[in-house]
Amino acid sequence: MFHIAVIGGGISGLAVAFRLKRAVGYQVTVLEAEDRPGGKAHTEVIDGFTCEAGTNSWLDKEQAARDLLEEAGISDRIKPASQSAERRFIYRANQLREVKLHPLKFMTSSVLPLGARLRLALEPFVAKQTQTSDETLADFATRRLGKGACDILIGPMASGIYAGDPNEMSLKSCFNKVYQLEQQHGGLIKGMLALKKAKKAAGEDPSAVTAGPSGRITSLEGGVSDLVQALTAEIGTDLKLGARVLGIAPGAQGGFTLHIEGSEPMTADAVVTATPAWSAAEYLKQLDPDAATAFSEIPYPSLDVICLGYHKNQVPHDLHGFGFLVPRGQDKTILGSLWTSSIFPGRAPQDHVLMRTMIGGMLEPQVGEWPPERVIATVREELSAILGIPTGEAPVLTRIFRHPRAIPQYHVGHAHRVARIRAAESRHPGFFATGNALLGVGVIDCIRESVATAHRVSLFLGPAKT
Ligand SMILES: Cc1cc2nc3c(=O)[nH]c(=O)nc-3n(C[C@H](O)[C@H](O)[C@H](O)COP(=O)(O)OP(=O)(O)OC[C@H]3O[C@@H](n4cnc5c(N)ncnc54)[C@H](O)[C@@H]3O)c2cc1C
Repeated sequence: MFHIAVIGGGISGLAVAFRLKRAVGYQVTVLEAEDRPGGKAHTEVIDGFTCEAGTNSWLDKEQAARDLLEEAGISDRIKPASQSAERRFIYRANQLREVKLHPLKFMTSSVLPLGARLRLALEPFVAKQTQTSDETLADFATRRLGKGACDILIGPMASGIYAGDPNEMSLKSCFNKVYQLEQQHGGLIKGMLALKKAKKAAGEDPSAVTAGPSGRITSLEGGVSDLVQALTAEIGTDLKLGARVLGIAPGAQGGFTLHIEGSEPMTADAVVTATPAWSAAEYLKQLDPDAATAFSEIPYPSLDVICLGYHKNQVPHDLHGFGFLVPRGQDKTILGSLWTSSIFPGRAPQDHVLMRTMIGGMLEPQVGEWPPERVIATVREELSAILGIPTGEAPVLTRIFRHPRAIPQYHVGHAHRVARIRAAESRHPGFFATGNALLGVGVIDCIRESVATAHRVSLFLGPAKT
């Protein structure tokens, strides 16, 4: 029977292993360095509050993810967000301002100052970029939408997904669909109109094409850990916890030998890496120095998640919405806050609310050096100012999750780094790379790429031998 070693027991590694075991029947071992699986996907229920350490939710638009939930037997645990989650806010000039998705309502709202709105209206007249260089998100957004929209809308969005710096992020690698809209239709508004027209012609609902995220925000009844548990149930004892891979070498009789901290070496016919890039950079040094270097060039900022629970009476704001993002330059350090108990009712006890605030990232790197008490105090102080919570009102729940290396950054040149990693796959048949450092940081991106990787492994090895 073919044996495959999967390095990393986050969503990516677990999804690859699940697929290879369930669909193909290979012998698979998952090697996970920590003492629990899930990586950045981890839920804790504390005193009736459901707190997510990393992944909060995803959009239900990815077929591969829907299929995986079905195969894992947890489709009935899918929990769509409430309607109120469609309302999103930006904190600007000392006020929360709703981001309206309807173009006319948006243009007459105060989310952007008047000058920025007028500049935004000129977007259809901005010429298409003809040179195909890897443009930064900030350069693209400023060129097409104006500096105001870039700073107030696009920058916070980059924080919300990547905790990133738009001046470094590659548009092509981070938001390829947006890049394609300009390339194929000459601009964003023109592109959206063309997509609406195509939907209408196909007899589909054109209103599904919006400037906001497409698909419904979703989680699972017990949080993202439901998915981790369902995948690990299939993998069973083939998931090895506390098994940190230190190096990989070509095997004496083909395949690979993996060196694992505190254990005997393990042999495998194929290896799938599904760990953060900084870790792959270490254990690939011997097998493929160029891939190791490419992995080492993918930066990770630190990011902290602070879950605060309050009694409803303590919070004057109705928290009717998804939450808010904070552009830089507003005299606040927090990146934004999600109103978890409004998005997913039931995630706080009766008459209580739960908020989840992000602080740190590429643009506030100093936060990673602060002691946890200072991080929590800053979050409480800034939330109080924004939501009108009287100073001195202590939350009934405080939980901080610190991620010293949180989310991989797809900076300019990322596609070239991915190509160098793919070249290593060609140099070492049976070696495969997946995980959020390559082609998408969202959970649904990770699942899509894991399913594709499992397929590539099965094409390489062929049918399972018994
Ligand atoms: C704060 C935060 C909020 C987020 N929110 C969302 C969200 O709302 N929606 C969304 O879609 N995505 C979100 N994400 C992104 C998403 O959670 C991640 O991209 C995804 O979970 C990554 O999965 P992964 O398996 O690729 O990597 P990871 O989760 O990082 O898993 C990698 C695993 O490899 C293990 N490992 C590392 N080195 C070794 C080694 N040498 N040997 C063995 N094992 C090793 C690690 O311990 C870890 O368990 C968020 C991320 C963070 C940090």
